[in-house]
Amino acid sequence: MFIQKNVKYFDNVQLSILLAFDTILCYNIRMIKLLKSLLYVPKCVACRCTLDDTEHFMCSVCAAKWIYEARPRTSSINSAMGDVPLIYLARYVPFSVTHMLVWQSKRVEITRRSQFLAAELLLALKSEMPLNGAYVTYVPCSAATLRSSGSDQSETLAQALVAEAANEDFDVQLLSLFSNRSSVQQKSLGAEARAENARTKHVIDAKKAANLRGKKVLLIDDVVTSGASMAVCAEQLMGAGAEVTCIAVARAGKDK
Ligand SMILES: [Zn+2]
Repeated sequence: MFIQKNVKYFDNVQLSILLAFDTILCYNIRMIKLLKSLLYVPKCVACRCTLDDTEHFMCSVCAAKWIYEARPRTSSINSAMGDVPLIYLARYVPFSVTHMLVWQSKRVEITRRSQFLAAELLLALKSEMPLNGAYVTYVPCSAATLRSSGSDQSETLAQALVAEAANEDFDVQLLSLFSNRSSVQQKSLGAEARAENARTKHVIDAKKAANLRGKKVLLIDDVVTSGASMAVCAEQLMGAGAEVTCIAVARAGKDK
């Protein structure tokens, strides 16, 4: 572009030198593009096998299983302030596509997996409730989980869900409301210790919570196990006057 615009100011030698540099530069860019296309092979978000041209996000084997596994379910979380509705996509059982997806989404290509899961969650939510005007917040992971995985899966999922909703013209906003003061991983504790740990560690931002009266809040977590963390966060949201719906990709343990 620079050469095309200023060509009249250059003599032939200068122009040849500039064109030579330009050719080298373009050649390098083409080489980088070629290398990238050779190195980046789209893989299945669950089993990580290489996808063919007809497959998008998931290989056909995982996709067939996922259709069977991902049937949005409504359930509830028991909290001190009563039952809170919970919508989740699938059961979290070993060797399931759901298990592979959640396990992988903490480790590699986090954004791509979160995009996939957010789109699936949005599909389920749209049929369950009106979304406009809702806030999305998340149950933050512990500092220990953050250190080991490098990112907060629930936060990434919440961000992806808001982006996905915005793509479909829903008025949904992300709110980061809770801090996690614990350095202990919730999954390393027993049921009673989980409840106690959750109670002391998840603290709502009082300033932000002051505007939640009468607002619809979607509280998101990747996997619900005992539901203790979610219950503690939901109680604080309800205490602030919000209308809470819990959302998760999967639920471990028995269906309640
Ligand atoms: Zn697969």
